[in-house]
Amino acid sequence: MTAAGELAAWVEVIVDSPGVRGCYTYRIPPELHERLAPGDVLAVPFGSRPVGAIALSRLDALPLGLDAADVRDVEDIVTTNAIAPEFWQVLQHVAEYYVTPLAQVLRIVLPPGMLGRSQRRIQLVQEPTAGEATAATLSAEATSLLVLLQAQRGDASWLFLRRQVTNAAKGLRELQQQGRARSYWQETTTPKPQTRQAVTLIQDDIDGLTSRQAEVLVALRRLGGDAWMTELLSQVGATRQVVQALAQKQRVTIASREKLRAASQPQVIPDRPLGLTKAQQAAVDAIAAAASQAKPQVFLLRGVTGSGKTEVYLQAIASVLQERKSALVLVPEIGLTPQLTDRFRARFGNRVSVYHSGLSDGERYDTWRQLAAAEPRVVIGTRSAIFAPVQQLGLIVLDEEHDDSYKQDRPQPCYHARTVAQWRSRLSTCPLVLGSATPALETHAAAESGRVQRLDLPERIGAKSMPPVQVVDLRAELAQGNRSVLSQSLRAALEGLVDSDRQGILFLPRRGHSTFVSCRSCGEPLTCPQCDVSLTFHQVGNYLSCHYCGFRRSHPRHCPACESPYLKKFGTGTQRLVETLQADLPQLRVLRFDRDSTRNKGAHRQILDRFRAGEADVLVGTQMLTKGLDVPTVTLVGVVAADGLLNMADFRAGERAFQLLMQVAGRAGRGERAGQVIIQTYMPNHPAIASVCAYDYDGFVAREWQQRRETGFPPSCRLISLRVSSQQQDKAIAFCEKLVAHLENVNADMLGPCPAQVERVGGWFRWHILLKEPDGRRWRVKETYSALTALPSPPSQVRFGIDVDPLRLL
Ligand code: ADP
Ligand code: ZN
Ligand code: ZN
Repeated sequence: MTAAGELAAWVEVIVDSPGVRGCYTYRIPPELHERLAPGDVLAVPFGSRPVGAIALSRLDALPLGLDAADVRDVEDIVTTNAIAPEFWQVLQHVAEYYVTPLAQVLRIVLPPGMLGRSQRRIQLVQEPTAGEATAATLSAEATSLLVLLQAQRGDASWLFLRRQVTNAAKGLRELQQQGRARSYWQETTTPKPQTRQAVTLIQDDIDGLTSRQAEVLVALRRLGGDAWMTELLSQVGATRQVVQALAQKQRVTIASREKLRAASQPQVIPDRPLGLTKAQQAAVDAIAAAASQAKPQVFLLRGVTGSGKTEVYLQAIASVLQERKSALVLVPEIGLTPQLTDRFRARFGNRVSVYHSGLSDGERYDTWRQLAAAEPRVVIGTRSAIFAPVQQLGLIVLDEEHDDSYKQDRPQPCYHARTVAQWRSRLSTCPLVLGSATPALETHAAAESGRVQRLDLPERIGAKSMPPVQVVDLRAELAQGNRSVLSQSLRAALEGLVDSDRQGILFLPRRGHSTFVSCRSCGEPLTCPQCDVSLTFHQVGNYLSCHYCGFRRSHPRHCPACESPYLKKFGTGTQRLVETLQADLPQLRVLRFDRDSTRNKGAHRQILDRFRAGEADVLVGTQMLTKGLDVPTVTLVGVVAADGLLNMADFRAGERAFQLLMQVAGRAGRGERAGQVIIQTYMPNHPAIASVCAYDYDGFVAREWQQRRETGFPPSCRLISLRVSSQQQDKAIAFCEKLVAHLENVNADMLGPCPAQVERVGGWFRWHILLKEPDGRRWRVKETYSALTALPSPPSQVRFGIDVDPLRLL
């Protein structure tokens, strides 16, 4: 109970206990008033035991419906600034901008059970002098605690003390105020640091050894004089006793040592910085200068594949490390970019940590421990690594910044790592480098407006030119009677790979389950008369619909443009392409690479390694192949049907197509021999295709930007998607209507509600409402946001989510 006149204050916390969701309110006892701040780690009573909690916000008034008598006291502040203040601010931005409760943001960001696996302990700071324990200055509770603690050699678990002493919290506060005791969290349960036996060479002398012992000694020398016991034994096939005998003969020592569970990493050969080209040097200088002045400048490093961007990152990072700061490097997909990680490890050795969602709990735990240490580090990771707890951040790099995988689709917060990176850069006052050959239109627009500084690498290293691009008109092939998916030219080029030392990549663009209908005679896709995007084919009901405005039509028999009956549904998989190849070109050795064939951990790398080792002439896959694949013997890149990219029911289709095609083209001719790119399409005149042929980013992006302004799509405005789904169609629709009613007075354009592109997934009907915010009017944005935070919760059996700046409209 709060006495009259006493200053009352409450704190909202999230409790770190398995299975507990939501926020809880606690009273802040008077002695903690001054100190307690959001982001602190607290000890609070929960049920019958104290648990860890993170303070979210202080409240001046008790939330409605709570009675002060039911609210318990915070026991203690365990760690102040457990989450660095600038990082805490980043998380708050994420919560606000992406309309997601802070508690939920924290759940995504912190590794599971960070606090739950720790135990609160109390330690005596100062041994009391004789007789002091009973001094009248201490209350009975404090005295009991003191006695107990002494009996436990000055250190005991809080749980133990609470059981022995009634009102222990009061006693402890007293001891803490007098500086006699402190509390701390100790990690208790799994995962624990892992220790292993290590063998170290101390005397390299094989005289007087048995042949077996000598063999082990030589193997150890080969391993650099220091190796893990298991590694050494497996190398020579010896037993532990042999090594023990060597230890007895003073040749080696055996000791237990912590072995970090960094995901198993193959050996790399160290390398040295390369002499930079003029353009590279200018880029490194600009970035290093901003880093050393702690300026939160955003740079766009633009350069095609092979123009030396990675070398720029490496040398900029080297200068950051020299100033004893850390760097954070984000890449789209770790499994596909082992070469990139290897290059970082070759340059920076074990200062490199890899951080991504594929890590096991143990690996992640160890990585957190490494990051918490003060040594400057280079952290490489995927999207979620933007939340890695890197201290003393000196530089952030986002490689392939245009890549869609930087956007979290679900659950909320549906953040974009590029957006979060800008906040982190501002709040940690360090530069951010966005690297790409084909920057996203958003980034291009920011560079045009001067908010982002451009750094260009205009040429490929070694003056290697980009391979010529040949476009094959599939309509003409059809007119000549060729109904195969392979054109004459592509077939001939593939045949040329048989029994040669060159290799090829066949790329079959495909996205999700999206199916659209296109005419094989004139190449025109069936589009929405109002929105000018492709209509999506719905198998159930046999109709076509637009996912922006809800327009519907039945599947026509003839092309509306040219009357041809050859309408084709796009969206076939790699499996069928492989079958066609095997039937048409039986001598060609084919390897398949896509989501289905690479589901297992490490499978990516295995397939790529097999391809690199020459086990196949051609590698067939989806857009996953566009990333990071650097094989010098690849001379041919074929795109089987670019239409799969061009006609997506999405206003970003053209941009994505251009980016992907530019990237695949860059895969050919990385070695000594010239490359060749063949793009098959029914729409050879599409602007994205024409621009790829000329490698013309500027031309493409200028036209695209113009078009977005005219049609009113991002980045000329801002989109917010409200996603509703339910197993009962009418429930989803009813909730949509409720949302619409709530948003009626909001000053944004509202589109929908309409069914999602894939209307039904796993029995769930999916609907969405789109809000369009004209850019640059802050007060209107603010208004929209307050409306969004006040939206009603969905009824049972309905799911609801908000996606700010959606990349995919479901
Ligand atoms: P990107 O990241 O733009 O694809 P990279 O940094 O990987 O380009 O460079 C492409 C190739 O050129 C790599 O093999 C790299 O080692 C080499 N390279 C980069 N910079 C230089 C340089 N200044 N001098 C010589 N070779 C370089
Ligand atoms: Zn037609
Ligand atoms: Zn439409």
